[in-house]
Amino acid sequence: MLGQMMEAPLLISNTIDFAAKFHPDVEVVSRTVEGPIHRTSYGEIARRSRKLARAVQRLGVQSGTRVATIAWNTHRHLELYFGVSGMGSVLHTINPRLSSEQMDYVVHHAEDHVLFFDRSFLPLAARLMQASNPIKHFVLMGSEKDRASGDPGGLKYYDELVDEASSDYEWPQFDERTASSLCYTSGTTGDPKGVLYSHRSTILHSYCVTMADSLALSNRDVTLPVVPMFHVNAWGVPYAAAMVGSKLVFPGPGLDGPRLLDLVEQEGVTSLLGVPTVWMNLLNEARVRDVKLSSVEKVVIGGSAAPPSMIEGFELGHDVRVLHAWGMTETSPLGTVCRALRKHDEMSSEDRRKLQAKQGRPLFGVDLRIVDDQEQVLPHDGVAAGHLQIRGSWVASSYFKTESSHAHREGWFATGDIACIDPDGYVLLTDRSKDVIKSGGEWISSIGLEGAAMECPGVAQAAVIATPDEKWVERPLLVVVKESETQVDSEQILEFLRAKVPKFWVPERVEFVDALPLGATGKVLKRELREIFAS
Ligand code: AMP
Repeated sequence: MLGQMMEAPLLISNTIDFAAKFHPDVEVVSRTVEGPIHRTSYGEIARRSRKLARAVQRLGVQSGTRVATIAWNTHRHLELYFGVSGMGSVLHTINPRLSSEQMDYVVHHAEDHVLFFDRSFLPLAARLMQASNPIKHFVLMGSEKDRASGDPGGLKYYDELVDEASSDYEWPQFDERTASSLCYTSGTTGDPKGVLYSHRSTILHSYCVTMADSLALSNRDVTLPVVPMFHVNAWGVPYAAAMVGSKLVFPGPGLDGPRLLDLVEQEGVTSLLGVPTVWMNLLNEARVRDVKLSSVEKVVIGGSAAPPSMIEGFELGHDVRVLHAWGMTETSPLGTVCRALRKHDEMSSEDRRKLQAKQGRPLFGVDLRIVDDQEQVLPHDGVAAGHLQIRGSWVASSYFKTESSHAHREGWFATGDIACIDPDGYVLLTDRSKDVIKSGGEWISSIGLEGAAMECPGVAQAAVIATPDEKWVERPLLVVVKESETQVDSEQILEFLRAKVPKFWVPERVEFVDALPLGATGKVLKRELREIFAS
């Protein structure tokens, strides 16, 4: 017997329609690529998204056509999120930090028909204009009035394209499983792989972003997603924010500490989301100016492990609660969020911060397990460490244009992360499987060791890699970036670690570098460090 409920497909256009109807005046504020702050509202974003849908239709975009962007987080990118997906075509957000070869690869693989790009990325677009590829139209996300003498001929300009289009556009209704957006993994090994999200997966994921035990994004929040809109749909924040009518503040290209702090203070931001490296700059700037992040209530840290010293810095220095979250491009990305349970109410704040350094518990909609090398399921006892696998409504079932992959097995996706899960379901990531260190038959967690090293005064950043060792097979090597004004030496760091971690974890060597090599999504490129130091 079927239920007797209305059939309303879960479509992305519903989120912006809802925002326009029930939160029309809620602001969307952007630091523009041109420099000034731009202010608009959900009502206006909705109107312009429809016009944009009309405009791309006139460029030959149809249902399923891929429309690419190389762009910062701004109001125009937001209009593309709703306009392109809303009309049934697929928004392909390209990471500008991909190498030229990788960018050529993804443009061909996705068969992009149009490219929208910010002026900062004109050199990338100009190179693509010269090359042979499927892109038929290049649209600069700005106004023709700001046309510069170096602009190549044949460009279209976003503002005029949208202004000239009619707004008498009704969002089409279609199957909620229709593809909505496409994001390629950063491809540190092999070619990037395309993850093709659907309207259904996106909407279900957005509900999850708003859940109280998750990121609890709500109308009360003034949300500043520093996580880029070219990386996993900015963790789904644009859709979820529209769903609840949260004021959005976009940083544009201003990702440095001073400009972020200005925005936070001027706009009364309550909610921040991004990777740890960004927050280091913000915390530094707040220290330099001797100010508190007084409007901020929570900061969501994901993409890499949140170092315990950063959790402490936010909580003790600014009374800001850190929500540590884990996910991947393939998981939309939310997999786990770390929040204390009711039974933790009596916990000391020190123990609670220790808990927060874990990646957190799975959210309804996904399921997790750990398995050993033979795919045998391991217990959730907080001790056994294994390969983390995930399945769920917003987890990719395969890669774009690929039937099967090594990572997809019997209904589960192998994340490539090594983790243990405790009896309460808290996941603690110890490593990427390709970064694990096995010394004398025992695992050493590079994430754990990095977190401990970053607590040492004078250490700004730390990365741990395995180096070959005759006696122990592998030993950890600690690579450190010092805080600018301090003079910490390796013996001081090792002495500090001896009191913090098991004896066999303490490395024999510390190497100092000016900066750690970062990949396209802000993660430390350990492969490069291994090439430099492993021998
Ligand atoms: P990406 O697909 O580029 O978003 O990368 C996903 C990977 O980032 C995961 O498989 C993890 O290795 C890593 N990652 C994401 N969040 C965390 C976290 N909170 N702690 C440690 N690693 C993380």
